Amino acid sequence: MTAAPTHVAQSWRHWRVWDRHLPIWYDPEYRLPLTAFGKRTGLEPRRADLVAWYLLEWRWITPANLRTPARIRYEDVARVHTADYVESLTRPATLARVFGVDAWDVPVDEVMRTMRLGCGGTLAAAHEALARHGATVNLLGGFHHAGPGHGAGLCALNDIAIAVRALRHDGFEGQVVVLDLDAHPPDGTAACLRDEPGTWIGSLSGVSSGQIPGADETVLPPGCSDEPYLVALEALLGRMPAPALAFVIAGGDVLADDHLGHLGLTLDGVRRRDLRAARALLTVPSVWLPGGGYHGQAWQVLAGTVLALMRHTRRPINPGADPMNTRFARLARRLGQDRRVAPSADLDFEDVEIELGMRARGVRRLLLDTYTVDSLEYGLFRFGVLSFLERRGYGQFRVAFGTATSGGERVSLYGHADNAEHLLIDLVVERRTMEAGELLYVHWLAMRDPRARFSERRPQLPGQDAPGLGLAREVTELLQLTVQRLGLAGLGFAPAWYHTAYMVRGRFRFLDPARQGRFEALMRDTAHLPLTVVTQALAGGAVGMNGQPYTWEASDMVFLIDDPGVDPEQVAAERERVGFVVGDRPPSPPA
Ligand SMILES: [Zn+2]
Repeated sequence: MTAAPTHVAQSWRHWRVWDRHLPIWYDPEYRLPLTAFGKRTGLEPRRADLVAWYLLEWRWITPANLRTPARIRYEDVARVHTADYVESLTRPATLARVFGVDAWDVPVDEVMRTMRLGCGGTLAAAHEALARHGATVNLLGGFHHAGPGHGAGLCALNDIAIAVRALRHDGFEGQVVVLDLDAHPPDGTAACLRDEPGTWIGSLSGVSSGQIPGADETVLPPGCSDEPYLVALEALLGRMPAPALAFVIAGGDVLADDHLGHLGLTLDGVRRRDLRAARALLTVPSVWLPGGGYHGQAWQVLAGTVLALMRHTRRPINPGADPMNTRFARLARRLGQDRRVAPSADLDFEDVEIELGMRARGVRRLLLDTYTVDSLEYGLFRFGVLSFLERRGYGQFRVAFGTATSGGERVSLYGHADNAEHLLIDLVVERRTMEAGELLYVHWLAMRDPRARFSERRPQLPGQDAPGLGLAREVTELLQLTVQRLGLAGLGFAPAWYHTAYMVRGRFRFLDPARQGRFEALMRDTAHLPLTVVTQALAGGAVGMNGQPYTWEASDMVFLIDDPGVDPEQVAAERERVGFVVGDRPPSPPA
């Protein structure tokens, strides 16, 4: 073994050098086109987007690092999964079970597209890992619960098993190692690769699903913290055979307070996990995959995995980082420059129409004196809203200005599906001068998925005539960008329902300090109840305040760019003065 010293020297040299060229597989369609999904599981369906945007916007990587996956071929899928099972994936009910959503919520082709892109990414990442003799990352994958004849736990196809079988088919004979560091055990992967020689599966999880034949499994106690976790990892790495190719599931669900994981790691502990595994696999071709993650910071785990591989650093992700906000703001600036090219064409067309007498001068329509219909549609396209709606089955989009009954300017987005045109987004806004300054005031905002259905999983909230689109975050960002573009002081609106106020509570506050105090008291006193129960109780008059029936007060909330804040003493005084009770029947009116 005379090669050993050279090997070690080489590893240390590699460790000091940044891996600037780390290849990362990513596709915007890694986002699952399920609208009710994130709220229930705590999963952020935009995780891959947030990580890619963070890495690009903070200049950790350049577009040259990114690779675009191709959908895995069914020929590759068929080496792992049974024909009956693959056929069952054409039915919404099968996928609905795997993802824990209603069958109505499943656009089969698009969900399968996301799954197949993820699997294609893992296989391509394995090929490139072998070619470069180093690490690669796929921002979607590690579907370890999918077995040969069934899917489970958000895993419809087993990307690792598919990649291993495809490589074997092409003649790869080296030792394969699957280092599964997700908080759940690799039951599906072990079942798929049961008879595969030269394959070792090692797992550190926080929950047992029974003995898994063929896996080196360590189940850690609930809430296991950084230090004992790292000790167990060290032991697992000590038992790992020398790999010719490694797959690492750098699970994002090991953080404390994860919705579905049971471990108790910190972000720093997870980074140390990745650094330790990366060092053990130095100079080994390795494919790194995200696995699960049902926590607001799960995207930071995955971004941290990339930093561990590229820079070998424990430096934390900036806790205030908001990749969507940063990304959208930059796109908006670009859009401002693009306007000379694209949407101004629309203005020119209007000019022509006016000259030809097809349209009277003076009726040129602009939203807020700024946006043309085409510039709005172009914006929705550039910010990814239209492509998401396309995956939900809508097409032939149309933006139209309309009349608002209550003042303000109305703009609507329509889309075609099932031979009919549907209203998807409906917005009524105006500039309004308030004591806080000149604001963009939202009279009305509806985001509707009219082809979806309400169910126990997606209860109808007061004011909803159709389930939502899952785009609230994007639309809020776009409204904020509009505020900046128009040079306004902020956004304002009067929430008609408790759940609306609750959902924006992080950014918005009530203008009136006493009203803010009552809102905070209401949140405090109903914290033990689901949001749907509280908002329905308020709408049904079943809430009491200080012994009297309480009616929801739809007063103004604002988000201000430079918020002087409210008087905290006034807020606190009202918060302490009032107490709320949610009854199963309305409190009796005062005698
Ligand atoms: Zn998991």
